[in-house]
This record gives sequence, C-alpha cells and structure tokens, in this order.
Amino acid sequence: MSRWLRRLAIFLIILAPVYYVLVLHSPAPDEGAAYPLDVERLRQLATAHAGPGVSEIRVEKVAEFAFAEAMVMAGEPWRETPIPIYSFKLVFPDQTIVVDSAMASVEALPGFVVRDFDEDALARMNAAMGEAEQIVITHEHFDHIGGILAHPQLQQLLPALKLTPEQLAHEDRMQPLSLPEGVFDDYEPLAYEGMHAIAPGVVLLKAPGHTPGSQMVYVQLADGSEVLLLGDVSWQARNIHAVKERPLFMTLMIKENREQVINQFQALHELATRHPEIRQVPGHDGEVMGKLIEAGYLIKGF
Ligand SMILES: [Zn+2]
Repeated sequence: MSRWLRRLAIFLIILAPVYYVLVLHSPAPDEGAAYPLDVERLRQLATAHAGPGVSEIRVEKVAEFAFAEAMVMAGEPWRETPIPIYSFKLVFPDQTIVVDSAMASVEALPGFVVRDFDEDALARMNAAMGEAEQIVITHEHFDHIGGILAHPQLQQLLPALKLTPEQLAHEDRMQPLSLPEGVFDDYEPLAYEGMHAIAPGVVLLKAPGHTPGSQMVYVQLADGSEVLLLGDVSWQARNIHAVKERPLFMTLMIKENREQVINQFQALHELATRHPEIRQVPGHDGEVMGKLIEAGYLIKGF
C-alpha cells in the first residue's frame, strides 16, 4: 500500500465514526420519560369552549425550500426533499384563527435553497392575520413567526396574537429575524402548562424540544374529524413512522433537545397506531399535505 493510500485509509477510519455520530445515529426513546399525550383529556378540553366549531382548516403554502432527506432524518440518503412553508386558517362560522405565519421574505436567508416564494399567498396570509380573532404559532423559528414580525400592521395584530412566554423568551431562535424594538414591551403573553383550549375544538399542547416554545395544535372540527398540527416537532412524517431523530449535525445547529423530541416521536408513533383517526400534519411534509387536501381534511388556499 502506498503511503497516500495508507493515509487515506487512516483518515476514513477516523472519519467513519464521526460521520456515524453526526449523520446516521438517532437516540432511542427513553421509556421512563415518555411525552404525555392524553387523548381523552385532549378531547375533553376540545369541548371546554361553547359555541360553533371549526368548519374547515385552510392552508397556504407561502414558500418552499429544498433540504436533503439526510437533513430531515438520521440515516436517510442525500436526496432532495421539498420543505414547504405553510400557514393555516381555522374557519369558524363566526371567527377565524391563524396558526403559523410562514415568513414575509427569503432575502435574509443565505445558505437556504429556496425553490419558491409566493407573494400572493403572503398577501392572503397577511389579510387573514388582520381579520383573525386569534393568531398562534407552533414555535418561534423564522419560518413560523416571520409573517407576524414583518406584518405591515403588527401593532394592530397584538390583541389577537397569542405568543407564549417561552416563545418570546428565546429571541435567538428567531434568527435571522428579531423582535421589533419596543413593540412587545407591554405585551401580555399566553401562559399555560400542558394543554390549553383556546376556542371550541382547538387545544394547544406544549411540546418543548425542537425549540423551547414549541407547541402542537389539536383541532376537532364541527363534523367530528380530528387534526393535529405538529408544527416542527416533526418536519416530515418519516421521523414518526421510524421513531428516528434529525441527524445530530442539524440538531446542534438548531439547538434542539434530542431527548425531548425523540420521546415526542415515540408518543406520536403510538398515537398514529392507536388513533389513526387523528390526522397528524407535520410542519413541512408536502406528501402528507397533498393526501390530506385530497381527502378533504384540509382545504388549499385561504
Ligand atoms: Zn419550520
């Protein structure tokens, strides 16, 4: 063996375990630290508010990035996967709630592969936020809070805006965005523990891990169908099917708590098995979204 070949072999032997740890390995769920997901309690809370229920859930795709599957789940190939950026509108007969606000621009995102940005969808989302009774976000990342922070009438949105103290406390997670100076000085965030009903059929579930302010949104529609908006607890359904985390290099970059997230995947995996009637909507899964729109659980466009 030549000297160079030997050096290459040594290099690869050193590199292989590093690659394994950073890209291929996923932690296993901790049976002793399960994520609590009490379906009975959730359904009970869904009836806590009186009044007409959600008639439909509408969805806007404001933008689309491209990632590699290897960035979404440990051990997946370096094959491109679309990362659509969504905003949801829960439509009641007498009110609307907007869940997640995508972002208003992709200009400040060096390093991101942007496939699409829909200015018309942004305009519809901005109008919907202006009319909404409540606005909630699944977490404080730029692709979920961005539309709020850049809204042309942000000050007027504040009474409807239900950010949690955890979401507001971690401005570093909003990068490359930040809270506009002074706007939130007198803002009263929505504090709760565990689960919290905000409207007929709509319940927030704390799910810290992906970010400290992560939460899921359970929606029981007036027709009895059930949808669980996962936010970015899981970007795509593959992680829940396989109970496998994002690769370590990604979770280090986004400062994700892997123990919390893998336990949430385990709980959502069990939920999907025991309660397939509760349709799970991952944060950035175009395939799942397409199927749910086709089946009528979600309606395309605000
Ligand atoms: Zn996201």
